[in-house]
Amino acid sequence: MTTADLLLKNGTIIDPANGMNTTSDVFIQNGLISAVGKELNVSTETRVIDVSNKVVTPGLIDIHGHFYDGGNGSSVHADSNCLPYGTTTGVDAGSSGYLNYKAMRDYVFPTHKTTLLCFLHISAIGLAPNRQLGGGLHDMNIISIEDTVAAIKENPGFCFGVKVRMHYNAVSYWDAEKALCMAKEAAVQSSTRLMVHVSGTPIPLPTILKHMTEGDIATHVFNGDRENILDNHGNIRSEVKDAAERGIVFDVGHAGIHCDMAVVRSAISQDIPIDTISTDLHISPEDRTVYKMNDLVSQFHAVGLSWDQAIAAATTTPAKVLGLAEYKNLSDGTLSVGSVADIAVFDLLEGRFVWHDMSGNMVEGKTKLDTVVTIINGQIVWSREALNDMGEC
Ligand SMILES: [Zn+2]
Repeated sequence: MTTADLLLKNGTIIDPANGMNTTSDVFIQNGLISAVGKELNVSTETRVIDVSNKVVTPGLIDIHGHFYDGGNGSSVHADSNCLPYGTTTGVDAGSSGYLNYKAMRDYVFPTHKTTLLCFLHISAIGLAPNRQLGGGLHDMNIISIEDTVAAIKENPGFCFGVKVRMHYNAVSYWDAEKALCMAKEAAVQSSTRLMVHVSGTPIPLPTILKHMTEGDIATHVFNGDRENILDNHGNIRSEVKDAAERGIVFDVGHAGIHCDMAVVRSAISQDIPIDTISTDLHISPEDRTVYKMNDLVSQFHAVGLSWDQAIAAATTTPAKVLGLAEYKNLSDGTLSVGSVADIAVFDLLEGRFVWHDMSGNMVEGKTKLDTVVTIINGQIVWSREALNDMGEC
């Protein structure tokens, strides 16, 4: 860790929000980005790191993970699953609800360097019973709109919305629409947004989408379950096109099991946006690979997105979806001057890279982002190896 001013020298800057994809320097002072440009002059006290031939991006923002480490059977340790992969902000997607989020906020998250935010589950205890009861909306008495709204309103800049799982293990088909409406009501009353798990749904996908409005997030939207975004002919369903046009956010939430790359390929070929790339990091069974953010960004590039598009889906877009720019202490997913200096530096490896999903699809790519340095609030919080300091220059 260092608190000194820092100059990242001569990197390939990919900053989609500012339309940058060029060789440049990034100067960091007092935890903020203070200049971006070629051949920047800095004082002799500044630490200078040579990032020639490396890719410099805003720190990755994972809008769907599970980071309530120790608080339930599904959550992972944020720092060890984020920092080595270029992720600087992790959003916990409903691991806790209004009854048990305070221990996550006060005792778990503060032990991490990763910036951690959350969605509260509409279930009062979030995913605490996930392993035993499959998610926790089997008794609708577990829902309190009023208490969920109060908890979110008490935590601006920390709680960013309401999560509900529309999965047949989590809620019965006769309660699913009611639970969805209650979650939506809590999102409306708290002036936030709704994130809906839309994989393995007990009710039809169009029924779910009709309750969602602009800015709500459909996570796991590229799943290959029966109720997916494609019709029987492989065409995007009209209600899905309509949802995209209405501004519903299409989030990956890969999880190893909730993203079918054949569906992704169909979506790309039919102009459906991949709005946000996220991991759904969780403790998984051994036969499932839950990819980290750098792998997912690389995989989505391999399947057809440009680097600018793939990096935008992991930086500036999730920041916009959550409105992070409103909060001066949080990254806005850009390298704009004055923004919080959350930055990832990658090697762009060349070779043959292969990624799998649980549907048996394989994605093959020739390039992959491999993290070298992760910076949060201007401080180096993770580096792969001893950095090549340039000393005075
Ligand atoms: Zn999840």
